[in-house]
Amino acid sequence: MEYDEFTHNNRYVYVDWDMSSRCNFNCHYCSPESHDNKINFPKISDAISLVNKITTEFQGVKDFAVYNLLGGEPTIWNQLPEFSKYVKKVNSNNIIQLLTNGNKTVGWWRRNAPYIDKIILTVHVAQADIVELVEKFNQLVGDIHIDFQFAMDIAVFDKCITDYHYAHDNLHKNISINPKPLRTLLSASELMPYTDLQLDTLKNLPRRWGSELELDSAMIKKYHGNIVETNVNLSNLVMNKENSWKGWACWAGIDTITINREGNIKIGSSCNPDLVLGNISKLDFKIPLIPVKCRYDICSCYTDIMATKIKDYSLPMIFGEL
Ligand code: SF4
Ligand code: SF4
Repeated sequence: MEYDEFTHNNRYVYVDWDMSSRCNFNCHYCSPESHDNKINFPKISDAISLVNKITTEFQGVKDFAVYNLLGGEPTIWNQLPEFSKYVKKVNSNNIIQLLTNGNKTVGWWRRNAPYIDKIILTVHVAQADIVELVEKFNQLVGDIHIDFQFAMDIAVFDKCITDYHYAHDNLHKNISINPKPLRTLLSASELMPYTDLQLDTLKNLPRRWGSELELDSAMIKKYHGNIVETNVNLSNLVMNKENSWKGWACWAGIDTITINREGNIKIGSSCNPDLVLGNISKLDFKIPLIPVKCRYDICSCYTDIMATKIKDYSLPMIFGEL
């Protein structure tokens, strides 16, 4: 059915922050510039100033912010505890979510759990000890929401399957577990050259959805005039090629804000390279808080897809290049 509005949970602004190229792993499918250790984490004073700016400028527009921290490995940022505490201090409803390889000790996670709401733990099988990871994160259930995602590396495919089953059988039931098919490079568009048998194996792996944050259970909705379709499945949307909103008004820049590892703050994660608002070292700009007109045939990144889109919208929009 045709629809004319697409929305997620627009109570919060999703701050998608690629913080550095520092990482303690060296995955062969990771773009070298994502873990070459050349770009350090931001200065804590700059990071706090940005939190203040987001808090002030989104006041009355959004109830809270979700800080999704990634880039290289965010847990090796020495100031992460200080930053996370500050994010919670300015608004106790704010959420801290980390994309991590899970390498820190159980003691580190325990100490920092009061300020971390959720982790998405990617298991990089060639460099991970699955028995140790399972034992460690089972101890943290109840303190942090945990999602395990397995990077299904074709170079160690059989080990990925063995480790996946071990994790599925031994992880606490409140921990989610899902396989993640990989692209040849994380920045590339084509999948690793899995055989048909490997693809079938991936599709048939058991999955589990553990405990969910209220955030996750917010329904994605499509509106068809007065009819509302709830609980829209994002994977199906992409597979059905419904992720095309060219010409629509898009709330990237209002529902989401992206910061890349150079500290540039922009509208859209993988789109709109020209819509850079400024840099975290110089916050002398206003966030426009008006929708952009989509110029793209496909909206491919999940962060971008989550932003609200409206088909017929006559109020002011950004048409490109700020
Ligand atoms: S852990 Fe993540 S950032 Fe580090 S090398 Fe692997 S894919 Fe890249
Ligand atoms: S490609 Fe960018 S502008 Fe277009 S719908 Fe996706 S997020 Fe919005």
